[in-house]
Amino acid sequence: MSEINLEDGLRRFSEIIRGSDNVVFFGGAGVSTESGIPDFRSADGIYRQSCKYSPEEILSRDFFTSHPEEFFEFYRKSLCFPSVKPNAAHYKLAELEKVGKLKAVITQNIDGLHSKAGSKNVLELHGSLLRNYCMRCGRFYDFNFVYSSKKIPKCECGGIIKPDVVLYGEQLDADVTARAVKAISDADVLIVAGTSLSVYPAAGFIGYFRGRSLIFINRDPTRRDGEFSLVIRAKVGEVLSSLDLSRF
Ligand code: NAD
Repeated sequence: MSEINLEDGLRRFSEIIRGSDNVVFFGGAGVSTESGIPDFRSADGIYRQSCKYSPEEILSRDFFTSHPEEFFEFYRKSLCFPSVKPNAAHYKLAELEKVGKLKAVITQNIDGLHSKAGSKNVLELHGSLLRNYCMRCGRFYDFNFVYSSKKIPKCECGGIIKPDVVLYGEQLDADVTARAVKAISDADVLIVAGTSLSVYPAAGFIGYFRGRSLIFINRDPTRRDGEFSLVIRAKVGEVLSSLDLSRF
């Protein structure tokens, strides 16, 4: 691993991206903090909020089944940000895809901001808050319906509506997983950003990378920094904004 000063890091980053047309991005909650959505494990993250149950407990399938009212209370208070907008990182990734450099955005986030910014090939490993389904009849409901429902959102048929997000204790979608693994295995450059790399199996996916440059853009150090060929310790929106596509 080489950890270098910001200026040199940005220069190397730009050179690497300029020299490749097969870049894949793998991101986490830190990609959306600049939009105002707190991450989980930073000093001001959701995991530092005091509550009767831990967030891991609340965001589990068992808890959803046994305490749906408390689940939706936490969901509305801590996961939903109705007026949130994409930030510079989301927009730059959409541009990189448009010019043919970026092949996929793989995200652990559930906020839908990559698609909102215009990215097309978005693989949402943990699902999306923008999709919700009745657990009895399968009918689709949008974010606003579930967000503005009182207590437990219910379908016309009486079934409980579940956000299409992967809770602890649930499996990742097999098709999304296969596409993410393939994109990472085929990539020449993998940018990993805004993630503590501690939620599995998603965090294990970067082990499939066989390409040239493995880059990590993260504000705080992690235990896995040593696996990367370039580590940039800065905000992902600022780092991606520094790419001048007109020079590529
Ligand atoms: P995490 O909270 O465990 O780690 C976030 C990491 O991002 C930290 O290491 C932090 O230093 C870094 N970070 C924060 N802001 C940053 C920025 N502006 N630039 C660069 N780095 C920044 O998040 P995780 O690893 O993604 O795991 C948390 C899980 O929680 C994920 O599975 C995700 O689904 C979920 N989650 C999603 C959202 C969302 O959809 N926006 C928000 C919170 C949590």
